[in-house]
Amino acid sequence: MAVRIFVGESMSFRTIGYLDEALEQTSWDSETGGADKMKAIDEYAVEASMSKVWGSEALFATADDAVQAFGGAGFSAEYPAEKIYRDCRINRIFEGTNEINRLLIAGTFLKRCGGTEGHPLAAAGTATLQLPEDSLLATVALAKARALKVIALAQAEHGPKILDNQEAAAHISNLLLELYAMESAVVRAGKMAASGHRWAALARDMAEVYAQEAWNRVQSGARMLAGELASGEALDTLLAELLAMHAPVPVPLSTLRNRIAQALIDQGRYPIA
Ligand SMILES: Cc1cc2nc3c(=O)[nH]c(=O)nc-3n(C[C@H](O)[C@H](O)[C@H](O)COP(=O)(O)OP(=O)(O)OC[C@H]3O[C@@H](n4cnc5c(N)ncnc54)[C@H](O)[C@@H]3O)c2cc1C
Repeated sequence: MAVRIFVGESMSFRTIGYLDEALEQTSWDSETGGADKMKAIDEYAVEASMSKVWGSEALFATADDAVQAFGGAGFSAEYPAEKIYRDCRINRIFEGTNEINRLLIAGTFLKRCGGTEGHPLAAAGTATLQLPEDSLLATVALAKARALKVIALAQAEHGPKILDNQEAAAHISNLLLELYAMESAVVRAGKMAASGHRWAALARDMAEVYAQEAWNRVQSGARMLAGELASGEALDTLLAELLAMHAPVPVPLSTLRNRIAQALIDQGRYPIA
């Protein structure tokens, strides 16, 4: 639950940071101020959708964990978990259902990358990957390379028509969601370490747990997307290429989780302000 809170905050702070920066470049004093502000906000539509989808699903999973942790009392309206669980269900439906947001994430991303020579998507998977020294940043880079290789293939072979296959579009969105989530958490943890934040070690543990788990979801998501794109020999080749790509070394997540849990027990709450 704490890991989800940390990652969700990281995505929201990052998205809001992008919007703040973009809006600072515009002014109501300009004749085109209103339109400039709308354009600045629109620029980050994908990031906003990813924060909404990821955040609402993480909230629901966290509420579900709370019900479970309360046991039978979690199901009873006399205890708070039941109300939280019921109330938070709406977040996946309003403000654009998560299904429609997923279509928007994949569609907008592909539209913006399509046909742009030199875009990272064009080189994904073929470029020699220079791995960062930091193991968490390396995990993010490996996940990106793997996901973007298959998304680039979808783009190259099907163009925007890939969105007609909603299963494929959902895989693309889920891959992008995982990349944005893991990168946001890892970069934030790195910034906390660099600034000597008192909870930097806890943040790194939480980012590492998420990055390791997300990497596995990226791996299976890339394979499922591959299955939507190719068959026979072409699929065999693609899967073999994915298999040959570097993978991060697994770490004992139980050790990290125990440290995270102990920090929360010691503080009696999620401690990062
Ligand atoms: C408590 C509450 C408060 C609300 N507040 C507001 C508000 O303040 N302002 C406002 O404008 N609206 C508000 N709404 C409305 C809300 O935004 C809509 O309920 C929501 O957008 C879903 O639309 P719908 O109910 O018509 O479902 P539908 O559009 O009929 O969708 C039903 C299901 O089908 C899925 N679906 C639909 N099309 C596709 C597709 N092409 N591909 C895949 N799946 C698809 C949807 O994701 C959903 O799961 C509120 C709703 C509730 C319940």
